[in-house]
Amino acid sequence: MSEPNDADELAALTTSLKRHLQRRQRAGIGFLAKGDPVETKPVSVVKENLLGGTVDDMFADTAASMAANSLDELRAAIGDCQRCKLCSGRTHIVFGVGNPRARLMFVGEGPGQDEDLQGEPFVGRAGQLLTDIITKGIGIKREDVYICNVVKCRPPENRNPEPDEVAACEPFLKKQIDLVRPEIIVGLGKFAVQTLLKSNVAISKLRGNWHSYHGIKLMPTFHPAYLLRSPADKKLVWEDIKKVIKELQGENT
Ligand code: SF4
Repeated sequence: MSEPNDADELAALTTSLKRHLQRRQRAGIGFLAKGDPVETKPVSVVKENLLGGTVDDMFADTAASMAANSLDELRAAIGDCQRCKLCSGRTHIVFGVGNPRARLMFVGEGPGQDEDLQGEPFVGRAGQLLTDIITKGIGIKREDVYICNVVKCRPPENRNPEPDEVAACEPFLKKQIDLVRPEIIVGLGKFAVQTLLKSNVAISKLRGNWHSYHGIKLMPTFHPAYLLRSPADKKLVWEDIKKVIKELQGENT
């Protein structure tokens, strides 16, 4: 392979600059103002990732999201995220919804079709079941809890998120949990629970028992989508939710 010449380096630098400015525009950041310091770096140290961003940009963006002091700031820092390949098929980033100071947080796997189209987690048939669990089962409003997923973009054909996708998106979930600081997390389904607990144990064995996620009480239970296919297991979820209610009421289980 021949060494890159000046023309090649100039073309690479121009492409990189163009993409950087496009990302700033998508994130609502204007062009550089006159007098703004312009940081320069040799083309050879700018490594492009598969999605056209740069490794440097990814670290800068992630640092910004980790520095967020509120959910709004975190959402703004995530911007038009392209950190993993799920970005290519999504309609909306499904960030999360609910009370930013909720005592109770629900974490699912990832958005489905309805969620992708509406930009809100748990709004399809499974979402209605979760809403029933919250409102009719626990007896509180959906707006009183916080609801989000492990990955924020819909996996194609609702497949499970892949390890690299979870690795790219999980810092946002961790930051959401850190910002909301719930007393209790309900992990919905095998994927979310195994991701939170870093465990390969089956959800049927994990559910119904209290676990700890960085000091926060975590109750694993079945995913509402599973309950639509296996309604006989609703009674098991109700057993799990009754333990959550007791904990919320300050009663030891
Ligand atoms: S799934 Fe997460 S990391 Fe991947 S593109 Fe969407 S927001 Fe970014």
